[in-house]
Amino acid sequence: MNLDQLLSAFPHLVGPLRILIVDDQPVNIRVLHGVFRGKFEVLMATNGEQAIAVCRSQRPDIVLLDVVMPDISGHEVCRQLKADPDTKDIPVIFVTSQAEDSEEALGFEIGAVDFISKPVNPVTVLARVRTHLALKLQNDLLRSMAMIDGLTAVANRRNFDNALTNSWRRCLRDGAPLSLVLLDLDCFKQFNDRYGHQAGDSCLVAVAKTLKLALRRPDDLVARYGGEEFACILPNTDAKGAANRGASMREQVKALEIEHADSQVGPFVSISVGLVTLVPHASTSAEMLLEAADQQLYRAKDTGRDRVCAIEL
Ligand SMILES: [Mg+2]
Repeated sequence: MNLDQLLSAFPHLVGPLRILIVDDQPVNIRVLHGVFRGKFEVLMATNGEQAIAVCRSQRPDIVLLDVVMPDISGHEVCRQLKADPDTKDIPVIFVTSQAEDSEEALGFEIGAVDFISKPVNPVTVLARVRTHLALKLQNDLLRSMAMIDGLTAVANRRNFDNALTNSWRRCLRDGAPLSLVLLDLDCFKQFNDRYGHQAGDSCLVAVAKTLKLALRRPDDLVARYGGEEFACILPNTDAKGAANRGASMREQVKALEIEHADSQVGPFVSISVGLVTLVPHASTSAEMLLEAADQQLYRAKDTGRDRVCAIEL
Protein backbone atom coordinates (compact mmCIF):
# COMPACT_ATOMS: atom_id res chain seq x y z
CA MET A 1 0.00 0.00 0.00
CA ASN A 2 1.20 3.52 -0.63
CA LEU A 3 1.01 6.25 1.96
CA ASP A 4 -2.42 7.63 0.95
CA GLN A 5 -3.99 4.15 0.93
CA LEU A 6 -2.54 3.42 4.38
CA LEU A 7 -3.73 6.70 5.84
CA SER A 8 -7.28 6.19 4.59
CA ALA A 9 -7.38 2.50 5.64
CA PHE A 10 -6.11 3.08 9.19
CA PRO A 11 -7.03 6.63 10.20
CA HIS A 12 -7.52 5.59 13.84
CA LEU A 13 -3.95 4.31 14.13
CA VAL A 14 -2.21 7.28 12.58
CA GLY A 15 -2.10 10.78 14.01
CA PRO A 16 -0.66 13.64 11.98
CA LEU A 17 2.64 12.43 10.55
CA ARG A 18 5.70 14.24 11.89
CA ILE A 19 8.96 14.83 10.14
CA LEU A 20 12.12 16.11 11.83
CA ILE A 21 14.56 18.14 9.72
CA VAL A 22 18.08 18.41 11.11
CA ASP A 23 20.65 20.75 9.57
CA ASP A 24 23.16 23.23 10.98
CA GLN A 25 22.42 25.67 8.11
CA PRO A 26 19.06 27.42 8.56
CA VAL A 27 18.85 28.02 4.80
CA ASN A 28 18.81 24.24 4.17
CA ILE A 29 16.09 23.77 6.79
CA ARG A 30 14.05 26.49 5.09
CA VAL A 31 14.22 24.72 1.71
CA LEU A 32 13.09 21.37 3.17
CA HIS A 33 10.46 23.03 5.31
CA GLY A 34 8.99 24.49 2.11
CA VAL A 35 8.73 21.00 0.62
CA PHE A 36 6.81 19.51 3.56
CA ARG A 37 4.82 22.48 4.82
CA GLY A 38 1.09 21.76 4.80
CA LYS A 39 1.69 18.03 4.13
CA PHE A 40 3.20 16.92 7.44
CA GLU A 41 3.87 18.39 10.84
CA VAL A 42 7.45 19.71 10.58
CA LEU A 43 9.88 19.70 13.53
CA MET A 44 13.34 21.27 13.26
CA ALA A 45 16.75 20.98 14.94
CA THR A 46 20.00 22.77 14.16
CA ASN A 47 22.42 20.46 15.95
CA GLY A 48 22.85 16.82 16.89
CA GLU A 49 22.10 17.14 20.55
CA GLN A 50 18.83 18.92 19.83
CA ALA A 51 17.94 16.29 17.21
CA ILE A 52 18.31 13.44 19.72
CA ALA A 53 16.31 15.32 22.35
CA VAL A 54 13.46 16.00 19.88
CA CYS A 55 13.43 12.33 18.81
CA ARG A 56 13.12 11.19 22.44
CA SER A 57 10.43 13.68 23.41
CA GLN A 58 8.39 13.99 20.19
CA ARG A 59 8.94 10.63 18.43
CA PRO A 60 8.84 11.91 14.84
CA ASP A 61 7.84 9.40 12.16
CA ILE A 62 10.95 10.11 10.08
CA VAL A 63 14.19 12.12 10.33
CA LEU A 64 16.01 13.96 7.55
CA LEU A 65 19.53 14.21 8.92
CA ASP A 66 22.39 16.38 7.71
CA VAL A 67 25.68 14.47 7.83
CA VAL A 68 28.19 17.29 8.32
CA MET A 69 27.49 19.28 11.45
CA PRO A 70 29.78 20.77 14.11
CA ASP A 71 29.89 19.03 17.51
CA ILE A 72 27.94 15.82 16.90
CA SER A 73 27.95 14.56 13.28
CA GLY A 74 24.88 13.14 11.58
CA HIS A 75 26.47 9.68 11.71
CA GLU A 76 26.87 9.89 15.48
CA VAL A 77 23.27 11.11 15.89
CA CYS A 78 22.08 8.13 13.86
CA ARG A 79 24.18 5.71 15.94
CA GLN A 80 22.69 7.08 19.15
CA LEU A 81 19.12 6.91 17.82
CA LYS A 82 19.61 3.30 16.74
CA ALA A 83 21.11 2.34 20.12
CA ASP A 84 18.06 3.57 22.06
CA PRO A 85 15.04 1.19 22.11
CA ASP A 86 12.73 4.21 22.24
CA THR A 87 14.07 5.77 19.02
CA LYS A 88 15.60 2.88 17.08
CA ASP A 89 12.53 2.37 14.86
CA ILE A 90 12.43 5.95 13.57
CA PRO A 91 13.67 5.85 9.95
CA VAL A 92 16.65 8.10 9.22
CA ILE A 93 17.40 9.54 5.77
CA PHE A 94 20.79 11.22 5.39
CA VAL A 95 20.93 14.46 3.48
CA THR A 96 24.44 14.81 2.14
CA SER A 97 26.57 16.60 -0.39
CA GLN A 98 29.26 13.91 -0.30
CA ALA A 99 27.72 11.41 -2.68
CA GLU A 100 30.59 8.91 -2.35
CA ASP A 101 29.79 5.19 -2.44
CA SER A 102 31.85 4.55 0.68
CA GLU A 103 29.96 7.28 2.49
CA GLU A 104 26.64 5.64 1.62
CA ALA A 105 27.86 2.20 2.66
CA LEU A 106 28.77 3.55 6.08
CA GLY A 107 25.39 5.28 6.37
CA PHE A 108 23.46 2.08 5.63
CA GLU A 109 25.69 0.17 8.03
CA ILE A 110 24.74 2.43 10.93
CA GLY A 111 21.04 2.15 10.14
CA ALA A 112 19.99 4.81 7.60
CA VAL A 113 17.19 3.81 5.21
CA ASP A 114 18.13 6.16 2.36
CA PHE A 115 20.22 9.08 1.09
CA ILE A 116 19.22 12.34 -0.49
CA SER A 117 21.87 14.56 -2.06
CA LYS A 118 22.18 18.31 -1.74
CA PRO A 119 21.04 20.50 -3.31
CA VAL A 120 17.73 18.71 -2.80
CA ASN A 121 15.22 18.18 -5.59
CA PRO A 122 11.77 18.83 -4.01
CA VAL A 123 9.96 16.20 -6.09
CA THR A 124 12.51 13.48 -5.29
CA VAL A 125 12.75 14.26 -1.60
CA LEU A 126 8.97 14.26 -1.17
CA ALA A 127 8.57 10.96 -3.05
CA ARG A 128 11.31 9.25 -1.02
CA VAL A 129 9.94 10.51 2.28
CA ARG A 130 6.45 9.28 1.38
CA THR A 131 7.81 5.84 0.49
CA HIS A 132 9.68 5.49 3.76
CA LEU A 133 6.74 6.77 5.80
CA ALA A 134 4.53 4.12 4.18
CA LEU A 135 7.07 1.41 5.06
CA LYS A 136 7.31 2.68 8.63
CA LEU A 137 3.53 2.66 9.08
CA GLN A 138 3.35 -0.89 7.72
CA ASN A 139 6.02 -1.97 10.21
CA ASP A 140 4.15 -0.30 13.07
CA LEU A 141 0.95 -2.07 12.04
CA LEU A 142 2.64 -5.46 11.82
CA ARG A 143 4.22 -5.00 15.21
CA SER A 144 0.89 -4.12 16.85
CA MET A 145 -0.93 -6.96 15.06
CA ALA A 146 1.66 -9.42 16.37
CA MET A 147 0.69 -8.44 19.93
CA ILE A 148 -3.10 -8.35 19.64
CA ASP A 149 -5.70 -11.13 19.51
CA GLY A 150 -7.35 -10.94 16.08
CA LEU A 151 -10.89 -11.67 17.29
CA THR A 152 -11.22 -9.76 20.55
CA ALA A 153 -8.57 -7.04 20.09
CA VAL A 154 -7.23 -7.56 23.62
CA ALA A 155 -3.60 -8.66 24.16
CA ASN A 156 -2.68 -12.08 22.74
CA ARG A 157 -0.85 -14.87 24.53
CA ARG A 158 2.61 -13.70 23.44
CA ASN A 159 1.89 -10.20 24.68
CA PHE A 160 0.62 -11.66 27.97
CA ASP A 161 3.78 -13.75 28.49
CA ASN A 162 6.01 -10.69 27.99
CA ALA A 163 3.84 -8.50 30.19
CA LEU A 164 3.77 -11.06 33.02
CA THR A 165 7.56 -11.34 33.01
CA ASN A 166 7.90 -7.55 33.04
CA SER A 167 5.31 -7.04 35.79
CA TRP A 168 6.93 -9.77 37.85
CA ARG A 169 10.35 -8.07 37.61
CA ARG A 170 8.96 -4.63 38.38
CA CYS A 171 6.99 -5.79 41.44
CA LEU A 172 9.97 -7.85 42.65
CA ARG A 173 12.18 -4.74 42.42
CA ASP A 174 9.59 -2.48 44.11
CA GLY A 175 8.46 -5.00 46.74
CA ALA A 176 4.90 -4.46 45.44
CA PRO A 177 2.03 -6.96 45.29
CA LEU A 178 1.14 -8.55 41.96
CA SER A 179 -2.24 -10.13 41.24
CA LEU A 180 -3.13 -12.47 38.41
CA VAL A 181 -6.61 -13.44 37.23
CA LEU A 182 -7.48 -16.46 35.08
CA LEU A 183 -11.09 -16.75 34.01
CA ASP A 184 -13.19 -18.98 31.85
CA LEU A 185 -16.64 -18.62 30.26
CA ASP A 186 -18.95 -21.16 31.89
CA CYS A 187 -20.19 -24.04 29.70
CA PHE A 188 -18.93 -22.34 26.54
CA LYS A 189 -18.92 -25.54 24.51
CA GLN A 190 -22.67 -25.85 25.12
CA PHE A 191 -23.06 -22.19 24.09
CA ASN A 192 -21.36 -22.85 20.75
CA ASP A 193 -23.34 -26.06 20.25
CA ARG A 194 -26.65 -24.31 20.75
CA TYR A 195 -26.09 -20.86 19.24
CA GLY A 196 -23.34 -21.52 16.69
CA HIS A 197 -19.74 -20.35 16.36
CA GLN A 198 -20.64 -16.91 15.02
CA ALA A 199 -22.60 -16.19 18.18
CA GLY A 200 -19.74 -17.73 20.19
CA ASP A 201 -17.31 -15.27 18.61
CA SER A 202 -19.60 -12.32 19.29
CA CYS A 203 -19.91 -13.46 22.89
CA LEU A 204 -16.11 -13.58 23.30
CA VAL A 205 -15.81 -10.09 21.81
CA ALA A 206 -18.45 -8.71 24.19
CA VAL A 207 -16.86 -10.36 27.24
CA ALA A 208 -13.37 -9.10 26.30
CA LYS A 209 -14.70 -5.57 25.97
CA THR A 210 -16.42 -5.81 29.35
CA LEU A 211 -13.26 -7.10 31.05
CA LYS A 212 -11.32 -4.19 29.60
CA LEU A 213 -13.87 -1.72 30.93
CA ALA A 214 -13.79 -3.38 34.36
CA LEU A 215 -10.01 -2.89 34.57
CA ARG A 216 -9.36 0.76 34.12
CA ARG A 217 -5.87 1.29 35.48
CA PRO A 218 -3.34 1.90 32.70
CA ASP A 219 -0.96 -0.84 33.90
CA ASP A 220 -3.66 -3.54 34.02
CA LEU A 221 -3.62 -5.94 31.08
CA VAL A 222 -6.41 -8.13 29.70
CA ALA A 223 -5.33 -10.96 27.41
CA ARG A 224 -7.00 -13.81 25.57
CA TYR A 225 -5.23 -16.77 27.12
CA GLY A 226 -6.85 -19.61 25.19
CA GLY A 227 -10.15 -20.38 23.40
CA GLU A 228 -12.62 -19.06 25.98
CA GLU A 229 -10.07 -18.32 28.66
CA PHE A 230 -8.85 -14.82 29.56
CA ALA A 231 -6.03 -13.68 31.82
CA CYS A 232 -5.57 -10.32 33.54
CA ILE A 233 -2.38 -8.96 35.08
CA LEU A 234 -2.90 -6.47 37.90
CA PRO A 235 0.42 -4.96 39.02
CA ASN A 236 0.62 -3.11 42.36
CA THR A 237 -2.68 -4.68 43.38
CA ASP A 238 -3.15 -6.36 46.77
CA ALA A 239 -5.55 -9.22 47.55
CA LYS A 240 -8.39 -6.89 48.53
CA GLY A 241 -8.12 -4.80 45.38
CA ALA A 242 -7.90 -7.90 43.23
CA ALA A 243 -10.97 -9.45 44.91
CA ASN A 244 -12.93 -6.27 44.14
CA ARG A 245 -11.84 -6.34 40.53
CA GLY A 246 -12.64 -10.06 40.20
CA ALA A 247 -16.12 -9.54 41.66
CA SER A 248 -16.76 -6.58 39.38
CA MET A 249 -15.70 -8.51 36.26
CA ARG A 250 -18.02 -11.38 37.20
CA GLU A 251 -20.95 -9.01 37.80
CA GLN A 252 -20.40 -6.98 34.66
CA VAL A 253 -20.21 -10.04 32.41
CA LYS A 254 -23.47 -11.29 33.90
CA ALA A 255 -25.02 -7.85 33.40
CA LEU A 256 -24.51 -8.25 29.64
CA GLU A 257 -27.43 -10.72 29.87
CA ILE A 258 -26.27 -12.83 26.95
CA GLU A 259 -28.74 -15.71 26.84
CA HIS A 260 -27.26 -19.14 27.63
CA ALA A 261 -30.10 -21.61 28.00
CA ASP A 262 -27.78 -24.64 28.23
CA SER A 263 -25.57 -23.30 31.00
CA GLN A 264 -25.58 -25.15 34.32
CA VAL A 265 -25.64 -21.75 36.01
CA GLY A 266 -27.78 -19.85 33.43
CA PRO A 267 -29.87 -18.24 32.16
CA PHE A 268 -27.07 -15.85 31.12
CA VAL A 269 -23.42 -16.17 30.15
CA SER A 270 -21.24 -16.16 33.28
CA ILE A 271 -17.58 -16.58 34.19
CA SER A 272 -15.56 -18.57 36.71
CA VAL A 273 -12.63 -16.61 38.11
CA GLY A 274 -9.38 -17.79 39.70
CA LEU A 275 -7.31 -15.15 41.42
CA VAL A 276 -3.91 -15.11 43.08
CA THR A 277 -1.94 -12.36 44.80
CA LEU A 278 1.62 -12.33 46.02
CA VAL A 279 4.55 -10.04 46.60
CA PRO A 280 7.20 -11.47 44.24
CA HIS A 281 10.25 -12.86 45.98
CA ALA A 282 13.45 -14.32 44.57
CA SER A 283 12.38 -17.83 45.68
CA THR A 284 9.09 -17.63 43.74
CA SER A 285 8.39 -17.26 40.02
CA ALA A 286 5.84 -16.05 37.50
CA GLU A 287 5.18 -19.70 36.62
CA MET A 288 4.15 -20.41 40.22
CA LEU A 289 1.75 -17.50 40.06
CA LEU A 290 0.16 -18.89 36.90
CA GLU A 291 -0.10 -22.36 38.39
CA ALA A 292 -1.76 -21.01 41.54
CA ALA A 293 -4.26 -18.96 39.51
CA ASP A 294 -5.06 -22.04 37.44
CA GLN A 295 -5.75 -24.04 40.63
CA GLN A 296 -8.10 -21.32 41.87
CA LEU A 297 -9.90 -21.30 38.52
CA TYR A 298 -10.28 -25.07 38.75
CA ARG A 299 -11.67 -24.71 42.27
CA ALA A 300 -14.20 -22.09 41.07
CA LYS A 301 -15.40 -24.47 38.34
CA ASP A 302 -15.34 -27.49 40.61
CA THR A 303 -17.46 -25.85 43.30
CA GLY A 304 -20.26 -24.80 40.96
CA ARG A 305 -18.95 -22.11 38.48
CA ASP A 306 -20.07 -18.47 38.26
CA ARG A 307 -17.86 -17.49 41.19
CA VAL A 308 -14.50 -16.03 42.21
CA CYS A 309 -11.95 -18.19 44.10
CA ALA A 310 -8.88 -16.41 45.42
CA ILE A 311 -5.71 -17.16 47.32
CA GLU A 312 -2.90 -15.03 48.70
CA LEU A 313 0.54 -16.65 48.61
MG1 LIG B 1 25.84 20.71 7.54
